[in-house]
Amino acid sequence: MYNIIKDLFPITRSLSGNGNRQTLNYLKKNYLDELKIHEYSIADNKSTYDWETPYEWNISDAYILDENGCRIIDFKNNNLHILGYSESIDVTIPFSELDNHLYSLEDDIDAIPYVTSYYKKRWGFCLTHRQREKLRKNPEKLYHVVIKSNFNENGSITYGELIINGYSDEEVLISTYICHPSMANDNLSGVAVATEIAKYIYALPERKYTYRIVFIPETIGALIYLRENITHLQKYVKAGFVLSCIGDNGDYSCVHSPYNNTYTDKIVTHVLKHITDNPKEYSFLERGSDERQFCAPNVNLPVCTLSRTKFGKFKQYHTSNDNLDFVSEEGLKGGFEYVKTCIDILENNNIYKIKTVGEPQLGKYGLYPTISQKGSADYTRNLTNIIAYLNGENTILDIAEILNVPFSSVLEIIKKLKEKELVTP
Ligand code: ZN
Repeated sequence: MYNIIKDLFPITRSLSGNGNRQTLNYLKKNYLDELKIHEYSIADNKSTYDWETPYEWNISDAYILDENGCRIIDFKNNNLHILGYSESIDVTIPFSELDNHLYSLEDDIDAIPYVTSYYKKRWGFCLTHRQREKLRKNPEKLYHVVIKSNFNENGSITYGELIINGYSDEEVLISTYICHPSMANDNLSGVAVATEIAKYIYALPERKYTYRIVFIPETIGALIYLRENITHLQKYVKAGFVLSCIGDNGDYSCVHSPYNNTYTDKIVTHVLKHITDNPKEYSFLERGSDERQFCAPNVNLPVCTLSRTKFGKFKQYHTSNDNLDFVSEEGLKGGFEYVKTCIDILENNNIYKIKTVGEPQLGKYGLYPTISQKGSADYTRNLTNIIAYLNGENTILDIAEILNVPFSSVLEIIKKLKEKELVTP
């Protein structure tokens, strides 16, 4: 997962453009050969629901030269230097004028901020506040500003879709976004974890659900995907997850659906409780990624967002400090485990009924420890507690919640009871 992030980090991504294609082609070529890359025509879809479909934007170069011809800012050194969706410009202006087109962070003076202007035509550069303050000392000094970009009204918005079939019609939606330039946790961690999760799902011996894994630009991409699939999604999606900021070493967190009342919410709450001592559950009032579209009225899909440290809650967020040092293999592994556990629950959350009238005599089946030692009393208690709730109505997750133990520990015991033919599905 870390290598995926490393490889994709330098690419200039945005709502549209060749960087997004390059990102998806990399995933298809190296990891997900069944990934379907869709091109959504802008000319054929001037609007997408209530939104104007933005033109395809590509940029080849952007820099600022001082009077000596020195590149004081160069997009090629860091693509965060350019205001996303900047229009072309070639002018020589004094700093006092240039300053109106600059973006920096007063409270984090060595970070380059990530700024975009998708829906109003502008041009601009982002830089560290330290550099800007230095330049401000000479307001009359002239600078040659060049941006070489283009907007293509006949272009398209690119997104990726992977469908892995299961034996039932019901589906699980996993969504992540591909629209940020060089940032690691906010954006690429979701791409890396979703890719690894796809490999995990492929490797399952059988699948109950069909998995629909999508790589889309945030907001407009989610709306495009909905416009193309909403009826199907509303009919078949049983659970859904947006993956965002899931590769740092911070706390595990989620953003719940609007009423925290879906099957997805129940699974996520359970997984969080057992994966960490310090779960952070945010309500829909703190939404920010594509759960905004997927959970909107008239869409109403059962979707939660899964994160390590949630977007907006870490200092590096939307700056050049969200870099390859901020994510780690360990953080990503934790993020992967978080999503994987949700999938394991979805795949195995069945209902069983104990066959005996009264408690079974466990010793007869070799299920009762014949030696009493530390831990064996807990094991027996857990086993008999599970049996006590196998009434043919509770799901495995219901029982895990009643007993306040991880789903996997209930599943493990049910497997043993199945072997001994003590339960019926
Ligand atoms: Zn973001």
